[in-house]
Amino acid sequence: AETLLEVKDLSVVYTSEEGIARAVNGITFSIDRRQTLGFVGETGAGKTTTGLSIMRLLPEKAGQVEKGQVFYRGEDLLRLPESAMRELRGSRIAMIFQDPISVLNPVMTIERQIKEVLEAHDDHSGTNMEQRVDNLLKLVGIQPDRKKDYPHQFSGGMKQRIVIAMALACDPELLIADEPTTALDVTIQAQVLDLVEELKERLGTSMMIITHDLGIVAQVCDTVAVVYAGEIVEQGTVRDIFEGRRHHPYTEGLFGAIPDIKSEARRLSPIEGAMPDPLDLPTGCKFHPRCRYCTERCKTVHPPVCRVGTHEIACHRFKEE
Ligand code: SF4
Repeated sequence: AETLLEVKDLSVVYTSEEGIARAVNGITFSIDRRQTLGFVGETGAGKTTTGLSIMRLLPEKAGQVEKGQVFYRGEDLLRLPESAMRELRGSRIAMIFQDPISVLNPVMTIERQIKEVLEAHDDHSGTNMEQRVDNLLKLVGIQPDRKKDYPHQFSGGMKQRIVIAMALACDPELLIADEPTTALDVTIQAQVLDLVEELKERLGTSMMIITHDLGIVAQVCDTVAVVYAGEIVEQGTVRDIFEGRRHHPYTEGLFGAIPDIKSEARRLSPIEGAMPDPLDLPTGCKFHPRCRYCTERCKTVHPPVCRVGTHEIACHRFKEE
């Protein structure tokens, strides 16, 4: 398969009065065309920061890419001029966020907002804007005759659909979705997920889905990367990870409560202890203070990544086995 996005050894820090927070620490992964990657982990693992770094939307001054590369179709996005990046954002790569309210303009009709996205990226010669807005709304399951309505006239789930319509307006090749259903209640979550799945099938969009919801991963993802303290501790196919071929003690803990891929258990199971403070990360394996298999070596030596086929694990214990 053709690789669309390749993130190599990415590290990101946030500098504040409190010190340097190491949010992302040498993350490497790739997404092929038409593939959906689930980026899973607890809050504070560095998932959103990774997404924002790819889009080059880190908070100015505070957030900084320390090292690494983000290749999109072979071109390093981190080295593109801002103008070229702006061009790419929204047209080739789009991102949707947890909270649709923050994206929508309350005093503009949804038609106007979708048109703005279309206009920003198109030479609109010969394109019928009206028709395109209608088609996008239909695609996300909203009656086109509601296009003159304002955001507040829609429910939370509908607002997220509108945001998805805006993200899809320019037919992006890659969609980064950051907790797209977290702010929605359960039945609406299911609808939005069905929509995401359908779009993936119909449009063939590649996706990176940032989530702590394993139900989402099981339903729409092909591969999974498990993130802990700014590192990927395990990566593999959804099948491998859900069918018990998972090896990292952290993954084991997260997925432990889930008997199989069709299970109703959606949330990550809690593991004793807390995610380490990025201002003061542990030495060696960052999971060692919470790991029941921790040895002396784990406390001082950072575990290298081991590859077994397409599967990757960063754990001393796995290597020994
Ligand atoms: Fe646990 Fe050691 Fe593996 Fe880290 S390297 S997950 S501490 S066994």
